[in-house]
Amino acid sequence: MRHLYIHVPFCQRRCSYCDFSIAVRKRIPAAEYVDAVLREWGSADPGPAARGGPISTLYFGGGTPSLLPPDAITTLVDKLLRSADPGPAARGGQEVTLEANPEDVTPDKAKAWRAAGINRVSLGAQSFDDAVLKWMHRSHDAARIGAAVHALRGAGIENISLDLIFGLPEELKRNWERDLDMAHALRTTHLSLYGLTVEPRTPLDRWISRGATQAPDDERYAEEYLLAHRRLTAGGFLFYEVSNAALPGFHSRHNSAYWSGKPYRGLGPAAHSFDGTTRRWNLRAWEAYRRAIAEGRSAVESEERLTAEQQELERVYLALRTEEGLATTAPYRPLPPLMSRGWFVEHNGRLRCTPEGWLRLDSLVNELAMHTETQP
Ligand code: SF4
Repeated sequence: MRHLYIHVPFCQRRCSYCDFSIAVRKRIPAAEYVDAVLREWGSADPGPAARGGPISTLYFGGGTPSLLPPDAITTLVDKLLRSADPGPAARGGQEVTLEANPEDVTPDKAKAWRAAGINRVSLGAQSFDDAVLKWMHRSHDAARIGAAVHALRGAGIENISLDLIFGLPEELKRNWERDLDMAHALRTTHLSLYGLTVEPRTPLDRWISRGATQAPDDERYAEEYLLAHRRLTAGGFLFYEVSNAALPGFHSRHNSAYWSGKPYRGLGPAAHSFDGTTRRWNLRAWEAYRRAIAEGRSAVESEERLTAEQQELERVYLALRTEEGLATTAPYRPLPPLMSRGWFVEHNGRLRCTPEGWLRLDSLVNELAMHTETQP
């Protein structure tokens, strides 16, 4: 298994739009967490040979992995990589990503992360507007984002991604263009852009239900997405996936593995694993996960074996999410009505979504799949 994901479920508070599997904690039970993850890894791990070689990407996602003390991160990187690593020669090429919130990044922590082997940090910036950050229930202000980027660079971590959220309710008067300019001015290597969605049982969902805020609107979503596409492309970024743009050579190798259907292993509460045909996911809640591991039970909550048809649909969907696109070998020939609407382009035998196509990705995949089923 060459791609390893570690889910760190802890957060200091819940952001207004978030429905992730998190555990809100003032005190992070770091020792218990590290022990549980390493036990999960050890209990089901068949050893390097059966895993298919050394780990090439390790990704700490959450939750808020930057809430773990640096020595806990050091232990995890060391134990997880060393147990699968055939030697220092293979180490140079590993991508080791940590998701971090700006308020957790200090020069000392950044140095400790770098010493632990972290060479890529994904920062949850979301916006450079303090009023918007407050509305989102974020724990940082805009000034912390720049300070975090400088601290990371000072520690030798140059591969930095910023997450930004767009498509916010109109009443916030968020200036998306200004936020994109502020992000660009920090000269990070990567940006991930997420449109705001209203998930059930989140604070945002409740605000909308009682009329305290407006639901995000589709027109604004589309305008802001297309604006980001134009500006970032003009600034030298390549949208290599529907929500992700990078300078040349700085795409996320870990996430690219997901989008190309490669197997991966996930550890920690709510983590998913995939072996090419079967997807497994762990118990969502930290307490349930912790108890299962402590009692020597499997942390897997359930699994789903994909049928050949599901695998094919997923392959098409994932390929069209990326800049690489889908090979136009039969049965996926370009569909004239979709081409004429400007949602696809065909180039070098591959079908690729345009930015306008990416805005309709789900319906395009369905249309393409339905069409191929009816082809003679
Ligand atoms: S920090 Fe991230 S995971 Fe935690 S509540 Fe906020 S959005 Fe969700």
